[in-house]
Amino acid sequence: MGPTVNYVDFAVEGVQALRPYEPGKPVEELQRELGLNDVIKLASNENPLGASPRVVEALRDQAPDLASYPDGSGYRLKRKLAERHRIGADRITLGNGSNDVLDLVARVFLGPGRAAVFSEYAFAVYPLVTRAVCAEARVAPARARDDAMPLGHDLDAFAQRIDADTRVVFIANPNNPTGTWLAPDDIDAFLRAVPAEVVVVLDEAYRDYLEPGERVESRALLERHPNLVLTYTFSKIFGLAGLRVGYALANAQVTDLLNRVRQPFNVNSAALRAAELALDDRDHLERSLAVNREGLTTLGQALDHRGLERLPSQGNFVTFSVAGDAQPVFQSLLRQGVIVRPLGGYGLAQWLRVTVGTPEQNARFVEALDRSLDGV
Ligand code: PMP
Repeated sequence: MGPTVNYVDFAVEGVQALRPYEPGKPVEELQRELGLNDVIKLASNENPLGASPRVVEALRDQAPDLASYPDGSGYRLKRKLAERHRIGADRITLGNGSNDVLDLVARVFLGPGRAAVFSEYAFAVYPLVTRAVCAEARVAPARARDDAMPLGHDLDAFAQRIDADTRVVFIANPNNPTGTWLAPDDIDAFLRAVPAEVVVVLDEAYRDYLEPGERVESRALLERHPNLVLTYTFSKIFGLAGLRVGYALANAQVTDLLNRVRQPFNVNSAALRAAELALDDRDHLERSLAVNREGLTTLGQALDHRGLERLPSQGNFVTFSVAGDAQPVFQSLLRQGVIVRPLGGYGLAQWLRVTVGTPEQNARFVEALDRSLDGV
């Protein structure tokens, strides 16, 4: 018997119009669908080198105690993070991925009659968490396509959309899905201009991929701006996307508020242990960074040689236009066992985002792309 009630009508208003987050296509799904064995995924900005070998060994050789609840306070990981960022542990909130902390910010500071501001081309989770709590999603138009930072964040457009109802601003730097970044001075100037009651989330998921000279002194900004919330993840350069760990740094009061709505055991035991160990493996980070740098150059040159417009990127991915509907190219790449990310859901129907892979994966992508472009 089908439902006699349309439950959508009974969902809270913000949820009624939501569509679930669409993740990159999993490798196994494509293998099942097309009967392919050899599939590479360059669709979710994961680390192509995987996790640090030290982490893999530690988890393999000594499984965490699975029967006990994890340490709900994440004491040891927080202590390590406190050292790394030279900050009190009372200013750290752990999350089940940084997605989780973004959601906590929305649940604490947003709701009906309140608004969040973010860019036209910004991480899909910002509108999701905003609308889920029935707050207004205010979209700041992105920079023009012919700007020096095409489709990047326009902080003046952000500022124009801040009023008495605005409670949260989401800025990603570098930004996903564009790869664009902001000048440190511009972030500083923006923070000076924003009223103290507006919480500014500076999402630094891809911070480690920025050239050192481009990195904003976010830790220092945190001392000057009590409304600033910095978010980080273990899913990118640390290669732990499968375990789900992220965190926020904020002032102690905001941190206390975030922890009021945090699920008691939101980060599991394996994830806590892995994150602690990952922080110590500097070599793996250096290797990951080197692979990314080289890959960005290779992919950038390959796209340029083919005359494909691409956005400047200091993330671990490149976003490019196929100058036509990107779906046929995406589908053709899939048939060749290469998963990238179509950006139609972001209003960028002609664009694809490819994550930087290993040199072999990048070469395979470029070959497959050539075949795809020939075929359409
Ligand atoms: N912020 C940005 C800008 C992202 O691109 C992502 C993941 N793609 C996240 C946050 C969330 O990552 P995670 O939940 O894995 O930490």
